[in-house]
Amino acid sequence: MKEIIEGFLKFRKDVYPAHQDLFKGLAHQQSPRTLFISCSDSRLVPELVTQHQPGGLFVIRNAGNIVPSYGPEPGGVTASVEYAVTALQVTDVVICGHSDCGAMKAIATCACMDSMPAVGSWLRYADSARIVNQARHHNSERERIEAMVHENVIAQLANIQTHPSVRLALEEGRLFLHGWVYDIESGHIETYDGTRRTFVPLAEHTEVCATPVQFATAV
Ligand code: ZN
Repeated sequence: MKEIIEGFLKFRKDVYPAHQDLFKGLAHQQSPRTLFISCSDSRLVPELVTQHQPGGLFVIRNAGNIVPSYGPEPGGVTASVEYAVTALQVTDVVICGHSDCGAMKAIATCACMDSMPAVGSWLRYADSARIVNQARHHNSERERIEAMVHENVIAQLANIQTHPSVRLALEEGRLFLHGWVYDIESGHIETYDGTRRTFVPLAEHTEVCATPVQFATAV
């Protein structure tokens, strides 16, 4: 904890004064354009990877970058998605998985979750990805885990589209969904191409979107 407090003291002494105008401008308002949903893993820092300052990203983080499907008893993730899309009117949602994800590793290797029942229950929201992963052949455990990370991003892209606020924004053509996988070691990101249904390097395919834009049809 000592290091955390020392970090805050350094922030107050060096960082805050250098960005005082930014913080003053953000004191009573925010207008982030992107909802960024990532794993809680300490090695993935959304603001660092996207080079965004405070106020730039509306962030949801949890074990496995999971978005539960919409249901009659909405939880914290659902409320945050709804707020971002309806109140903040974000234009983009990024669901970002990452390499060496402990949550995805646990699913892909069928790890015993008896000592962590809450985690086991939470990871059930990735069941559709787990079933696909188990049905496919993989040459090694490492390959199976890597595939699970990717399949989970696709599953969560499907889950988020069950949310009414997201559905409406997609229908009105004012929201774009993106599925990313961040590689911790190389710093590379793969993005899901919803048209070709495959992951491609983000650096070479900056225009790619997970879900083709859908415009409302007049009836
Ligand atoms: Zn993770």
